[in-house]
Amino acid sequence: MPRAIVVGSGAGGATIAKELQGPFEVTVLEEGGDFRPLGLSLATMEKLKRTHLLLDEREIQLVFPAMRIAKTVDGMALVRGRGLGGTTTVSCGNALRMDHDLKALGIDLDSEFEETCREIPVSTSHQKRWKRTTRELFEICRDMGLAPEPLPKMGDYERCLNCGRCVLGCQNGAKWDSRRFLQAAIDKGATVVTGCKVERVVNREGRAAGVEVRQRLGRKFYPADLVILAAGGFGTPVILQNSGIACEPRLFVDPVLCVATRWENSPQARELAMPFVVQKDEFILSPYFDYVSFLFNKGWRYPANDTLGIMIKLADSNAGAVFGRRITKTLSDQDRKSLKEAVGLCQEILAKLGIPERDTFLGTVNAGHPGGMLPLTAGIAESLHDERLPDNLYVADATLLPRSLGNPPILTIIALAKRIAKICTGARSSPR
Ligand SMILES: Cc1cc2nc3c(=O)[nH]c(=O)nc-3n(C[C@H](O)[C@H](O)[C@H](O)COP(=O)(O)OP(=O)(O)OC[C@H]3O[C@@H](n4cnc5c(N)ncnc54)[C@H](O)[C@@H]3O)c2cc1C
Ligand code: SF4
Repeated sequence: MPRAIVVGSGAGGATIAKELQGPFEVTVLEEGGDFRPLGLSLATMEKLKRTHLLLDEREIQLVFPAMRIAKTVDGMALVRGRGLGGTTTVSCGNALRMDHDLKALGIDLDSEFEETCREIPVSTSHQKRWKRTTRELFEICRDMGLAPEPLPKMGDYERCLNCGRCVLGCQNGAKWDSRRFLQAAIDKGATVVTGCKVERVVNREGRAAGVEVRQRLGRKFYPADLVILAAGGFGTPVILQNSGIACEPRLFVDPVLCVATRWENSPQARELAMPFVVQKDEFILSPYFDYVSFLFNKGWRYPANDTLGIMIKLADSNAGAVFGRRITKTLSDQDRKSLKEAVGLCQEILAKLGIPERDTFLGTVNAGHPGGMLPLTAGIAESLHDERLPDNLYVADATLLPRSLGNPPILTIIALAKRIAKICTGARSSPR
């Protein structure tokens, strides 16, 4: 049986591993280890915060190894998941189909989205558990003509305890993450190797012969007939560049900025993250307790139970790059203009709750939806294969997205990975 190496076990990697196992003998190589939710209680986190020892967002990995934060020179905190399940384990479970840009390129993923929705339960049943302030915010947005919508979530929300710890890992089995697809791949016979950092693809005579990895015991070569890179928007470009394949400086990250205020007995730290969304052209808004700002931003001085925030998630410009450990990403003038408009809108919403603008404060700009450095184009809408890559090397993660979605990308990445699996197995012919 031909051997396939899949690099990464997040949204793209776990999906394609599940789809390829059978026609291929799949080995998933994952840099991190098993996922464990953050065990610290909110009370312990508050104590830690009061010690003033939490100086830098990058320290998060000391207590929560599955979450990694890098910083740009401008101080933007770039968040990603590391380990089995990738960034899906620290996601909010939001499930939106966001393929309008792909459709415009001629990529029709209808059947892949249908398959995905048959495999992953998606619902808005969490709405019945919303607490009073959330319901009030929803009504305010509706009365302002902002057309808020409950956010569809992936998983089994009958099991949701409304604990508010979605981004710290769900301990109750309610939120879906890609470890479920990974398990399905393992059940069919796939092998998963953790603690295995892929450094480069080894090319021989114009084909990918396998990958070179760094493991605890040193370097190793894994041979393969097919290689799929799904190491995420920050990881895949590094492997490509190490392999002599240039990427494009079109990195987007979907920056997040929270506008917060003091609000006694705020439910947010104890309620499902991002219950509803307001969609605008350049950004979305959603109620959100921002752990990154709460733990590390000196301006966030109120207790968690007295902090109320609205997240702005921006569809940023395609400008930035990752080279090795260095990530360059700055907000463009247009990004700053959109953020300013969004901050004003959040302040208007909070004003309807009776909070004057002077009582609001901003969080740390952080971001967790990287992608865009090997973007799909209309010319490869059928093959989904960039001509810079050897024939038997594919990318199957957010690196392929042509521009920022400014919205949750997991469903769209899964649908893309499913299509690439069909091309690789011949279930759908590639015109190359
Ligand atoms: C706090 C937060 C909340 C989010 N909430 C949502 C949400 O509600 N809904 C949504 O749709 N999206 C959400 N996202 C975004 C979403 O999780 C990611 O965009 C998505 O998981 C990206 O999928 P991917 O396959 O590109 O990469 P990832 O899921 O990041 O997977 C990449 C994997 O590759 C591994 N890896 C990296 N480098 C190497 C290497 N060299 N060798 C081997 N392995 C490697 C990583 O450890 C990781 O497991 C959220 C993101 C964050 C940070
Ligand atoms: S609120 Fe808690 S139980 Fe519900 S999905 Fe999030 S982490 Fe899981």
